[in-house]
Amino acid sequence: MASAGRIGPVAVPETPSTPNRIEPVAGVPLIFELSSEGRRATDLSPRAAGERRGAEIIGVELCRDDLPGFPELSEPQVLRHFLRLSQLNFAQALQFYPLGSCTMKYNPVVNDELAALAGLAGLHPATPAHLAQGALEMIARMEAALAEITGMDAVSLHPAAGAQGELTGLLMVRAYHRKRGEVRHKVIIPDTSHGTNPASCTLAGFEVIVAKSNRRGYLEAAEVRRLVSDDVAAMMVTNPNTLGIFEPEIQDIAAALHDRGAMLYLDGANMNALFGVAKPGHMGADIVQLNLHKSFSTPHGGGGPGAGPVAVKKHLEPFLPLPRLKHSGAGYEFDAERPDSIGRMRSFHNNFGMIVRAYAYILALGGDGLGMASRLAILGANYLRKRLQPHFPSATGEPSMHECVLSHDLEKRAGVSTLEIAKRLLDFGIHPPTIYFPLVVPGALMIEPTETESKEILDSFVDAMERIYDEALNDPERVKSAPQTLPVSRVDEAGAARRPILRWEKKA
Ligand SMILES: *Cc1c(COP(=O)(O)O)cnc(C)c1O
Repeated sequence: MASAGRIGPVAVPETPSTPNRIEPVAGVPLIFELSSEGRRATDLSPRAAGERRGAEIIGVELCRDDLPGFPELSEPQVLRHFLRLSQLNFAQALQFYPLGSCTMKYNPVVNDELAALAGLAGLHPATPAHLAQGALEMIARMEAALAEITGMDAVSLHPAAGAQGELTGLLMVRAYHRKRGEVRHKVIIPDTSHGTNPASCTLAGFEVIVAKSNRRGYLEAAEVRRLVSDDVAAMMVTNPNTLGIFEPEIQDIAAALHDRGAMLYLDGANMNALFGVAKPGHMGADIVQLNLHKSFSTPHGGGGPGAGPVAVKKHLEPFLPLPRLKHSGAGYEFDAERPDSIGRMRSFHNNFGMIVRAYAYILALGGDGLGMASRLAILGANYLRKRLQPHFPSATGEPSMHECVLSHDLEKRAGVSTLEIAKRLLDFGIHPPTIYFPLVVPGALMIEPTETESKEILDSFVDAMERIYDEALNDPERVKSAPQTLPVSRVDEAGAARRPILRWEKKA
């Protein structure tokens, strides 16, 4: 116990002593190890009283009062344990988090409070429509808001993440062509694309054709004209692209695709650059997905619930997933007559708590506020790009949107890699940017500051980067052995992926 509060460097064994034991991190014992028999927290909440009443209804003899092997702790022990663990991690709420393409903006706490309102958080997803009119109206209003923001005709809030939005979109594309009696096998994807794009294509059963972006980092309509054929179902384009620059030929690209009956799928993960600036609907997109956990400030949630609504033009509306809301004289209800729909992509309706948070964000900012958010995000990225230019030049000469992709010569000059620069940033209390992505830029550093960071924070990031540059030339070992100040230094990433240890076993 003596070491429980200490945060500092510890030796982490290369391989765990036995394959089924999880070693405590940084001297913090596991919650199971803190357990002592019979120790309890007190729960005086109405919920606990409800549970006791529930037990009486079910029959007390049928309810177990013991969970074998479950940790038994006092309330402060639980609080301290989890708060301590949370402090060992990097978080947007604790540090600058310029993780490119992920839009780690501030997640307003007031949105969490709204999502926790009993009438919203306690609403069972199987509640009949006539008893959930308020929630359904909120869904309808959110769909309308996203249609307005994207310039599209219809929206479904159903998909649970950006990647699932992509899959939903591609399945709609396939259903659309089938309905017209066509079977198309291919989808074009640029060489700058996010990894989820080709993955979604493969999942949806399409074959991928790669389009090359030009030397300036964007896609030419001529390249798309060269690749498109009657066997191409769609093209997926991220705009602004993953180099953080706007695709200037996007309307010509849309026309090149439409001329051959193919669709333009716009990956809207970078929407944080476009609020009040440009709409995918005006670019010629047939489908766009939005990532509420990026552009609309909902928590990324450690792999927990996300939301990836899809917005479509009118001709794809019949194919949107189920369930689909409609409004009749009697109020909101679910439309059961949708023979062309691709069906369900997941259980229930959507990740409603995320919808509430994002809707609150949209209402709080309004159209002007969202427009300002994008302009500030663009300003921040260009400020960093300009200030870092002497040692970390931009990978493109085109103006940046909400993020910038930089490179460096430290590998050549000092044998210091991008990964090592990223690890050293951790010692400065900064979450590293995205690295080695997009793949077209060797050793890329992809930096997305977001609109919610102040100039002081951006300046401190520049200072840290410049110091690391100097260190790499004068004391490369310091950078190569980073991080030195964290409870865990380097982890065995391949081992963690290939031999994950997911189960705790009691010490013999
Ligand atoms: C994040 C991202 C995705 C995937 O979205 P998830 O919500 O993480 O599934 C797709 N494309 C781009 C460009 C992204 O940045």
